[in-house]
Amino acid sequence: MINIDGKTKTVCLIGNPVAHSFSPFIHNFGFDLHKINAVYLAHNVQGEDLKQAVEGIKVLGYLGANVTYPHKTEIIKHLDELTESAKFIGAVNTIQNQNGKLIGHNTDGDGFVAGLKNKGHNLDKKTIYILGAGGAARSIIFSLCKTFQCNITLCNRNLEKAQQIQQTVNEHPNLLGKIDTCLTPDQIDTNKTIDVIINCTPIGMEETMNQIPFEQHITFNERMLVCDLIYQPYTTKLLQIALDHSAKVHYGLDMLIYQGILSFEIWTNETLPYNEIDALLKRKLY
Ligand code: NAP
Repeated sequence: MINIDGKTKTVCLIGNPVAHSFSPFIHNFGFDLHKINAVYLAHNVQGEDLKQAVEGIKVLGYLGANVTYPHKTEIIKHLDELTESAKFIGAVNTIQNQNGKLIGHNTDGDGFVAGLKNKGHNLDKKTIYILGAGGAARSIIFSLCKTFQCNITLCNRNLEKAQQIQQTVNEHPNLLGKIDTCLTPDQIDTNKTIDVIINCTPIGMEETMNQIPFEQHITFNERMLVCDLIYQPYTTKLLQIALDHSAKVHYGLDMLIYQGILSFEIWTNETLPYNEIDALLKRKLY
C-alpha cells in the first residue's frame, strides 16, 4: 500500500451497491506495482446524488472513475464527452478526467475481446450465437463487430430489444461484423452449425446456478467455443456441459480482468499483468 500524502491522487467506483466489487483490488494492486501515488476507493452513490458525485470527480481532481450498476446509462448526461463505444452502447463504465473534461468510455466489450485474443481465439468468419440482449451483450457485440468479420445471431426472449441492436449495428458504416438474425429461444434451429456461443444472460449465477440458458434449444459439439460472461461460479453449468462435450470454453473472469486492465490504461497509460490479476482475483473469488 502506498504512503498516502498531500500528492496522492484518487480514482473511485461509483455504484450502488459497491461493497462486493473487486475493482479496488485490481487497481490498488496496479498503483502499487507501478509505484503510482494514487488510491482507488468504492463510493456508494444514490441515484439522486449522481450529478453531485460527478461534479465531485471534477472539483476534487480525481484521475477518473469506474461506474457500475445502476448508474452506467444515467451518468452519461453529466459527462462532457463520450467515446464512440460508449455512445453506441449507451453506457459508461469508465470516466477519464482530462484536465477537468470528463470523458465517458466503455471498456466492457473491448475487455471481452482482449480476453479472447489473449487466449488465441480469432472469431473471423465465425457464426456466433449471443444469448441475451442487455447492456453486456450490446457492448460485446460492438467490440466483436469492430474486430472480427463475424456473423452474429442474437437470441433473446424480448425480440424487439434484439432487433433494435441489430438495426444499430447493421446501419453502422465501419463495422466488420454484422447481426444476421434475431431469434427468440424457441426459434433456435438446433441443427444449425454454431461456432461460438456467448452467454450474456444472468442464467447460471446465484439461484440459477444449476441452469443453462435456453437449455432445450442448444446442442454442443467439440468444435465449438462456448463463452460465459458470468464469473461467479468460475465454471458455470453452461461451461461444464461444454467441457463435457470436449468443446473449448472461455471464462467470464477474463472479461472482468481485461475491462479493468483497459480502464487502468486510460487513467495511467500503464498496463497491468494479466497473470497476476488473474491469480489475485481467483484468490479473492473462489
Ligand atoms: P441486463 O442488461 O439486465 O440484460 C440481461 C439479459 O439477459 C436480457 O437480454 C434479458 O432478456 C436476459 N435474461 C435475463 N433473465 C433471463 C431469463 N431468466 N431467461 C432468459 N433471458 C434472460 O444485464 P447485463 O448487464 O447485460 O449482464 C448480463 C450478464 O453479464 C450478467 O450475468 C452479468 O453479471 C454479466 N456481466 C459480466 C461482466 C464481466 O466482467 N464478466 C461484465 C458485465 C456483465 P430480456 O431482454 O428478454 O429480459
